[in-house]
Amino acid sequence: MSPPDLPNQPDLLIVGGGLAGALTALAFAKLRPEVKVELIDGGDSFGGNHVWSLFASDLSAEGRDLIEPLVEARWPAYDIAFPRRRRTIATPYASLTSERLDAELRRMLGDRARTGIVVENVDPHGARLAGGDRIESTHAIDARGPGREVAGYDCGWQKFVGQELQLAAPHGLTRPIVMDATVDQIDGYRFIYVLPFGPDRLFVEDTYYSDDPAIDREAIAARIADYAHMKGWDVTGIGREEQGCIPVVIGGDFDALWPADDAVGRVGVRAGLFHPTTGYSLPHAVETALALARAWPLDDPAAFLRQRAARVWARGGFYRMLDTMLFRAAKPHERYRVLQHFYRLPRPLVERFYAGKSTWVDRMKVLSGRPPIPIAVAMRALAGRK
Ligand SMILES: Cc1cc2nc3c(=O)[nH]c(=O)nc-3n(C[C@H](O)[C@H](O)[C@H](O)COP(=O)(O)OP(=O)(O)OC[C@H]3O[C@@H](n4cnc5c(N)ncnc54)[C@H](O)[C@@H]3O)c2cc1C
Repeated sequence: MSPPDLPNQPDLLIVGGGLAGALTALAFAKLRPEVKVELIDGGDSFGGNHVWSLFASDLSAEGRDLIEPLVEARWPAYDIAFPRRRRTIATPYASLTSERLDAELRRMLGDRARTGIVVENVDPHGARLAGGDRIESTHAIDARGPGREVAGYDCGWQKFVGQELQLAAPHGLTRPIVMDATVDQIDGYRFIYVLPFGPDRLFVEDTYYSDDPAIDREAIAARIADYAHMKGWDVTGIGREEQGCIPVVIGGDFDALWPADDAVGRVGVRAGLFHPTTGYSLPHAVETALALARAWPLDDPAAFLRQRAARVWARGGFYRMLDTMLFRAAKPHERYRVLQHFYRLPRPLVERFYAGKSTWVDRMKVLSGRPPIPIAVAMRALAGRK
């Protein structure tokens, strides 16, 4: 039951102004401006230091509208490259930046979006701050990013270091390279990801599907420099740098990740709302934000959000099975073969895969053809997962 409303208390307090919390606040500002929403974050700015990308096919038209002000760059297609396959895929791709997210939140929410507020505990009707103060609200939700639940996943890791490179001369790229796996296969499945942000500006990320979450930043930065050299790019400066390590989920128990008696609603990675194979959470964050705003008012937002997250978890079984094959059946330096094999498939199927909407026919096609992993090894790996 909700406590009685006080005149100035928010209807909805969102704790954590990263990707999911911020998008939830923006969805309310756009669709439900009458709802008093307050967004707080412990950092100096909303969204931290991030470039988030997505395929246009990941979102509904309404979702694409919501993120429109946050888009830094967009391209009509992207490339992939493997030792035995190169392809241009005509699915539009776009990147958002945390700088744009921060600016848009401040424009839309004004003083109802506040940074520098560290929260110790979130409960269904407010939050206790690090200094001991409390913010009361009719409802509160937790959007504080990855939490303890990550420890409950049976998973491998996708880790990366990305750098924005300033070049002496134009690079000539007209679209992103979403996977260049022609590089040396070190520490699992390795590929380079390149976003052409300007004629002489590139964002280059070196990514590993690895068994080890530790990031050797210096070694990876040196490999980015080698890649740039190999491409003939004369680097005159390095701007933004980001690094991360996100779970590639093989198994887990949804009820343990989000116990049914946990009465605090969650959004974002904390709710398990991400693609098990790619770790991308942007599409879920957008669609969940819109769904919550549309459904408001709710007596029990936590139940609404948990039900949604449980559905997403259940739909993720196929992707977790593929992750099992990738991590438990393929030898680390041969993992790229699984992706090389996948990219033989038609564009609409690839789009549905990334959107987490593979049909039964898609699933059969993904698993058909000459397998990149011996069947017996794959079956043993599947039998052995939690
Ligand atoms: C480097 C990197 C790149 C990624 N790129 C992509 C991508 O291209 N596309 C994609 O879809 N996904 C991407 N992901 C995965 C995922 O989408 C992001 O991690 C996304 O930011 C997760 O959103 P979130 O809102 O759940 O958490 P976060 O964005 O991490 O937000 C959590 C927020 O909570 C705040 N917070 C935490 N604790 C407290 C506290 N105690 N008090 C107050 N505030 C607190 C933090 O300051 C932060 O702003 C990437 C992840 C990483 C690490």
